[in-house]
Amino acid sequence: MTPRKTARKRNKKKSGRPARAPGITGIHPRRVAAILDKLNAAYPAAECELHHENPFQLLVSTILSAQCTDERVNQVSVPLFAKYPTPESLAHANPSELEQCIRPTGFFRNKTKSIMGASKKIVEEFAGQVPKSMEQLLTLPGVARKTANVVLGSAFGIASGVVVDTHVLRLSRRLDLTKQDDPRKIEQDLMKVVPQDRWILFSHQLIWHGRRVCQARKPKCLECNLEPLCYAKDRTVPPAR
Ligand code: SF4
Repeated sequence: MTPRKTARKRNKKKSGRPARAPGITGIHPRRVAAILDKLNAAYPAAECELHHENPFQLLVSTILSAQCTDERVNQVSVPLFAKYPTPESLAHANPSELEQCIRPTGFFRNKTKSIMGASKKIVEEFAGQVPKSMEQLLTLPGVARKTANVVLGSAFGIASGVVVDTHVLRLSRRLDLTKQDDPRKIEQDLMKVVPQDRWILFSHQLIWHGRRVCQARKPKCLECNLEPLCYAKDRTVPPAR
C-alpha cells in the first residue's frame, strides 16, 4: 500500500465518511470554491420560485413574500395580477379591496401601503417601468436591499449584490462564510468571497438548499452533499474527524 493510501485509510471514520481536509476552514478560497462546486452539482438550475411574467410582478410578489412562503404568494398573485395587471392599476387600487386580496400573505395592511406606494412612484417617477438600479429601487416604498437584489438578479440579470433572506442568513452562518447576524453585513461578507458572476445563482442555490435540505430546525445532514465541508454546531450528524 502506498503512503498516500495508508494515510487516507487512517483518516477514514468508522462511519465510512471521508475526513474533512485539515486546515481548510472558513472562507479559505479552496473551501469556498468547493462549496460553490457542490451547490452547482446539487442545484445547477436553481431559480427564483416566485411566479412572475415581468419585473413589476416580481417586485410585488417579493414584497408579498415577507414572512410568507413563496407557495402562498404564488396562490395569491394569480387573482391579484388578474385584477391589477399594471403599476397604474395598483397605484389607484381601493386599499380595502387590495388588503382583502393579499390578506393570506400576512401583514396585509403594511404590504398594501408598500405595494401602492411603490406602484405610484413607478408610475409618477419612472414612466411606469421598474427601475434597473439598486439606488433607484431603494427609493420605492417597501423596498430594501433584499427585494432590490431579487428584482435586479431575477428580472434583469444584474448582479448588484447577494440576496440575504432567512435561508441565506442561516446557511451562510452554518457554512462559516460569515460570522455576522445583520443581513447587510452578511451580504458584504458574501460579496467578498463569492465571485460576482455567481452572486445571482449562489443566492438561489442557498435558498433551494435551505428549503429542501438544510432546514432551520432539523437539517437533513445525511442527505447533504456539503456535509464533508460543514462543521456547523447544529448539524444533525457528527462531523468526520
Ligand atoms: S451538513 Fe447539515 S448543517 Fe451542514 S449544510 Fe448540510 S444540511 Fe446544513
